[in-house]
Amino acid sequence: MYIGRFAPSPTGPLHAGSLVAALASWQDARQHGGQWLVRIEDVDTPRCIAGADKDILQQLATCGLQSDAPVLYQSSRNLAYQHALDTLVAKGWAYPCACSRKDIEDVQGERVRHSAAVYPGTCRDGLKGKPARAWRLNVSQVLHDLKLSTPWQWQDRRLGTQTQDLAQEVGDFVLKRADGLWAYQLAVVVDDGFQGITHVVRGEDLADNTPRQMLLQQALGLSTPIYMHTPLVLGEDGEKLSKQNGAQALDLSDPSAALNQAAWVLGLPRR
Ligand code: GLU
Repeated sequence: MYIGRFAPSPTGPLHAGSLVAALASWQDARQHGGQWLVRIEDVDTPRCIAGADKDILQQLATCGLQSDAPVLYQSSRNLAYQHALDTLVAKGWAYPCACSRKDIEDVQGERVRHSAAVYPGTCRDGLKGKPARAWRLNVSQVLHDLKLSTPWQWQDRRLGTQTQDLAQEVGDFVLKRADGLWAYQLAVVVDDGFQGITHVVRGEDLADNTPRQMLLQQALGLSTPIYMHTPLVLGEDGEKLSKQNGAQALDLSDPSAALNQAAWVLGLPRR
C-alpha cells in the first residue's frame, strides 16, 4: 500500500515552488493508487505565521488537492517526539549539548564561512558542569552500533545514487533545539513512521537531509520510505523560490493555469 504525504511548514501561503512539490506528491500517490496525506509541520513556532495553515489547506483545496485523512499537526505530537528522544537517550545515541552557536564557531574558526557548520563534538563526552541547551544525535556511535557503512549511499527515484558522509559532512545534528523546540529531522522521521509513509516526494532542496532521516529511522526501528526529490522553481535571481526570499503567493484566480505551470516544471503533460 502506497502512502505519500505533503508536509508544508505554515510559514506563509504556498508559492509556485511548493505547489510543484504538492502536485508531484499527489500525482505520484494517485498513480500508485495510494493515499495522499497532508501534514502541517508547525514545530518551528517562531517561523510559523498564524492562519498560514488554513491558507495552505484552502489553496490546496482550490487546486483539488485534498488530504485522504485528517490533517496531522506536528504541534500535537510533543509526546511522540519526547518518546523518540527518550528512546535514543536510553540507547546512548543522544546527548545533551551545552554549546552556544558562538562556542561552535569559535572551535571551527574560519572553516565555518566556507562550509556548513559541522558540530565539533564538544559535549559528546559530557557537559563539564555547563547547563544543557540542546540534544544531539551521536552520529558515529549510531553508525558504529548498527554496523552501517559510510559514506551513506541511497537511491533517489529522480536523482539516482546519492552519497553523503554523515559524520564528516553533517556531524552530530540537533534533535531538540536550545530553545526547547523539536528539530525538523526528529519530527519528520517520527511522523513519517507514525503515518506509515511509504513514499516521500518533496523538493530537491531537502535531498541532503535524507541520510540524516534514514539514520534516525534505523536508530528508532522505523522503516525507510522510498524518496524522490522534485525540481525546484527558481526565481529570476536563479535562487530557489522560498517564502523567506519573498516569493509571491500563488495566483490561484485560475487554478488550472497554476497547476499546468507546476506540471510543466515536473515534465508532466498539461491538461
Ligand atoms: N516542512 C518541510 C518544508 O516545508 C518539508 C518537510 C518534508 O517534506 O520532509 O520545508
